[in-house]
Amino acid sequence: MNHIGQLNNVSHDLWAIRRVLNSRDAQGQRVCEIVGGWIHFASMSTCPSCHHLATKCDGYDAAGRQRYHCRPCRRDFTASSSSAFSGYRWPPDVILIAVRWHCSLPLSAAQIVRLLAERNIDVSARTVLNWVQTFGPQLAAALRKYRRRVGRHWTVDEVFCFRGTQKLYVYRAVDEHGQVIDVLLRDKRNRASAEAFFRQALARTDVTPKAIITDHHQPYVKAAAVLISFARHVRTGLHRRRGYTTQAVERSHVPPRDRLRGARGLRTVHTGQRFLESFEGLYALQRGDVKLRVLVPRYRATTASVHETTRAVVVAMNVLGDQLQRAA
Ligand SMILES: [Zn+2]
Repeated sequence: MNHIGQLNNVSHDLWAIRRVLNSRDAQGQRVCEIVGGWIHFASMSTCPSCHHLATKCDGYDAAGRQRYHCRPCRRDFTASSSSAFSGYRWPPDVILIAVRWHCSLPLSAAQIVRLLAERNIDVSARTVLNWVQTFGPQLAAALRKYRRRVGRHWTVDEVFCFRGTQKLYVYRAVDEHGQVIDVLLRDKRNRASAEAFFRQALARTDVTPKAIITDHHQPYVKAAAVLISFARHVRTGLHRRRGYTTQAVERSHVPPRDRLRGARGLRTVHTGQRFLESFEGLYALQRGDVKLRVLVPRYRATTASVHETTRAVVVAMNVLGDQLQRAA
């Protein structure tokens, strides 16, 4: 078995490669078939457009990064061309700082602009909001892969928030450990909204709930009967001495409400949904619902101080940012 490191000086001979396989070996390295054997491609990049392996180095770009040339589609690219941050003026860590501040602290985009300006990063409030809307949901989706296993007792509730004089409804479910399972923003509080929420929550988890716990809001009855008929539906209230209560989900409404207090509410259902998903993703990371140690191997939850956990969250977000790929 040859290693690409030993083949660097004969890179032009790589035309001998017959075909690239979309497979990886035990170490996660991309492998390709070559006449007579297998080689690893550790240092070459895959073309983000046609997914062929780069076969030619083509100088360096303005930022000093190795540029590759893809012969089949005749495009030039660098190792970071397939990143979701490709084409943005500011590097990923700057974008992630803004996303993190906006989602986890009660700061407006205009306040974040001033904080960034102190660090010689001049952007507009609109840019900050665009970053949050673009990368927040992507990070939240990436985080879902690392979250702790979702429990099988789901407590579901909705809470309203104002948009001017109009009410919007935030549907949220938590499991028996207080982990937020999913969140959905709707403009109506009815059966269709309840069904949409159940449908989304089921699609985003690999767990079939055993029990659905709600308050006495009528639309949950039919929505649960249609979509989660296999689970027991328990209708209860907040103040119960024994048995199920809706306390866990009522408590989960507090952090986003605290974040949005002082803000002028959520502008539209679409952007509001993206913000809430981003918020819940980051909050899960800070609360410990995400396996932080998988993302930050040196992190020890039992002995870590608040400061170490905060820094681990930053590292985890950067690791996740590296994983984000540009949409094809
Ligand atoms: Zn290509």
